Amino acid sequence: MSDSSKHIAVLGGGPCGLYAARVLTRAGYAVTVLDKGDRPGGLATSHLRNGNWYDMGCHMLHEFDKEIYEDIMEMMGEESIPVQLDAKIRWAGSFYRYPLQPKDMLRGIDFFTLCYYVLGLFAAQLRSNLVPWVPKNSEEALIMLYGHPLYEFFFKDFTHRYWGIHPSELSATFVTQKMPRLSAVDMIKKWLAKVGIKDRNVRAVDSALLEETLHYSRTGAESMPRCIAKAVEAKGGNVIQNAEVTRIVIDEVTHRVKAVRYRQNGEDLELACDECISTIPIPHLAQRADPLPPEEVLVAAREIRYKPIAIYGLLVNKPKCIDALYIYYRDRAFHRVGEPKNAGLKVEPPDHSILIVETTCEIGDEKWQGTDEIKERIFSDLEAENICTRDDVVQVNILHSENGYPIFALGFEPQLEKIKSWVKSIPNLQTAGRQGAFTYPNMHSAMRMGARAAEAAMARLRS
Ligand SMILES: Cc1cc2nc3c(=O)[nH]c(=O)nc-3n(C[C@H](O)[C@H](O)[C@H](O)COP(=O)(O)OP(=O)(O)OC[C@H]3O[C@@H](n4cnc5c(N)ncnc54)[C@H](O)[C@@H]3O)c2cc1C
Repeated sequence: MSDSSKHIAVLGGGPCGLYAARVLTRAGYAVTVLDKGDRPGGLATSHLRNGNWYDMGCHMLHEFDKEIYEDIMEMMGEESIPVQLDAKIRWAGSFYRYPLQPKDMLRGIDFFTLCYYVLGLFAAQLRSNLVPWVPKNSEEALIMLYGHPLYEFFFKDFTHRYWGIHPSELSATFVTQKMPRLSAVDMIKKWLAKVGIKDRNVRAVDSALLEETLHYSRTGAESMPRCIAKAVEAKGGNVIQNAEVTRIVIDEVTHRVKAVRYRQNGEDLELACDECISTIPIPHLAQRADPLPPEEVLVAAREIRYKPIAIYGLLVNKPKCIDALYIYYRDRAFHRVGEPKNAGLKVEPPDHSILIVETTCEIGDEKWQGTDEIKERIFSDLEAENICTRDDVVQVNILHSENGYPIFALGFEPQLEKIKSWVKSIPNLQTAGRQGAFTYPNMHSAMRMGARAAEAAMARLRS
């Protein structure tokens, strides 16, 4: 039985926080979601600019978590558009399907280069079979996973440019939590395993499948979080936008969160709560606690950093620009270009298209600001890739997030652990989601994290 007199505060209204609220309101609990954005969805929303919707990087829902997927489909109804995954990688002058397939590698790479990569992989696996070693950083982890030649050719510069950090200064955890597995490499590893040379220690993540249905909408990514927020409100929950959490008030006697303060339209407000699920960036949670946590937790919070993103949403006077949903680029001013119209986005005027050009940056740098020089570099790279010409671009809309990607810098793990231990010491506080757990879930995994946090909160309230 739920106790509707108990109030749960959910901090952050991205997929994780919204889904936590969905689970709680469905079970009859009183919930308030506080989100600083002007619309629900966090990173997974879209922004309306001059009559068109622009995603913060193309966001499509995977079907992997059946229970969540079916629930979302029910909430979205006819707004959901199923679309076949059609992603590509631009590499050494050719296009490869993403995820990378053995067949395509054999076709696209000349025989001697391919032999060189396979030999490199063979040497890396042989080495880790003879002398088991634990990689000290992501450079070593990548070499162990893909071999030296493939690391040098593909991953080294790409990783460095993407993060602004050399792979030797990134933690090996980055590889196990963020790098997608390459099925072509998996296949070669299977051959090597047959002759007794087994894969050890490092394993990258399963991300997309070649034959996969994704879900999108006519208004882009925004539809899914909007539908979840509506379902939460239909069950009596509150989703409050433009509400920035400024203080998490902890009772000095019980050591429990008793209220959350937030700022909305210039006004400071307070919400009393019995449980608190936070999905805001974990360092901010620590820095906004009242009273503040011990000094070593605050020091750790200063060490935990995120990589900001600047997304260039371009309205282009061309009906279609790329032959895919999105394409990854290795050596351009951007690392991915998506064309959401190819997944069903409605574009005005209909004979135009929209490109979502993704870049990583630093707050306030040239990419963040969108200087003329950066725009020029982007346009000339788009032209060089035959995507569109400068003259085709009729509008540039720049979207930002300060918390695009958690940075797994060397040595971040013990710092993160210090903050997480402090959170655990507060009996009615949980931290979850991409920003809250400082990890890389897709939307369905972030929602699963939200559902688990909701279940844990309900179990405590029942006990
Ligand atoms: C470029 C890019 C493309 C992606 N594409 C896909 C994709 O195609 N498919 C997929 O499944 N996943 C994709 N993802 C991952 C997806 O964005 C995340 O899984 C998802 O957004 C995580 O949800 P979350 O709620 O944990 O975090 P977020 O979406 O980051 O939500 C956190 C929320 O907290 C709020 N907040 C922060 N601070 C405060 C504060 N002080 N007070 C109040 N509110 C606050 C923010 O406004 C935000 O709404 C992509 C990610 C990126 C960066």
